[in-house]
Amino acid sequence: MPNDNSEAICGLCQKGLTARGIGRHLSSCLKKNLYRIADDKKEGPGILHLKVHEGYSGSIYWLHLAVNRDIKLSTLDSFLRKIWLECCGHMSAFFAGSPFGTEELSMNSRIDRHLDPKHRLSYIYDFGSSTTLAIDCVGEYPGKLRKNDKITILSRNEDPQILCDVCQSETAESICHECGMKDGGAYLCSRCLEKHKCGKEMLLPVMNSPRCGVCGYDGS
Ligand SMILES: [Zn+2]
Ligand SMILES: [Zn+2]
Ligand SMILES: [Zn+2]
Ligand SMILES: [Zn+2]
Repeated sequence: MPNDNSEAICGLCQKGLTARGIGRHLSSCLKKNLYRIADDKKEGPGILHLKVHEGYSGSIYWLHLAVNRDIKLSTLDSFLRKIWLECCGHMSAFFAGSPFGTEELSMNSRIDRHLDPKHRLSYIYDFGSSTTLAIDCVGEYPGKLRKNDKITILSRNEDPQILCDVCQSETAESICHECGMKDGGAYLCSRCLEKHKCGKEMLLPVMNSPRCGVCGYDGS
């Protein structure tokens, strides 16, 4: 059961875990509990267990997903936009390996053509104020997801509790876009934002997303 220290909850067995432990837990839990998300018949394209995380170490935002092997990259693109990224319809693209010096992959191609336990994908949303993600395949299973599911969330990071940059004691509710553009941060609690100089129209809500505080992202 979730406890006060848990940073992640397993969507299969509801156990509370640390963010570091969730990947290993899911690998063993999927072996026992795959039937909870997949049809028990051994038919189907197969299922990939993916870890999606922001493309630099130390980021607190991550997702563990189960996807059917035969989905197109465009399906994952729409999913990532919906759960994490969409602000104003920017361009996005997948790349094999690192995004530097490699060609953009076709959105129409199957995900398992490019991704397996040995090959990582990168993804960029917005080529201006970019959000860059890395996508690893950490497991492969038989069958297919239940009903018409193409993507199932196995676990995601809990809502971040970020301290206010001004008072350093309350939990931040908003991030100032103006200050964030200059030095990458200006998290504000409800009290400190009243006195903030940039004005209310510059404030964006703190959301559970690596796009938080970027461009006009407000999670809607
Ligand atoms: Zn579990
Ligand atoms: Zn935008
Ligand atoms: Zn404060
Ligand atoms: Zn500001």
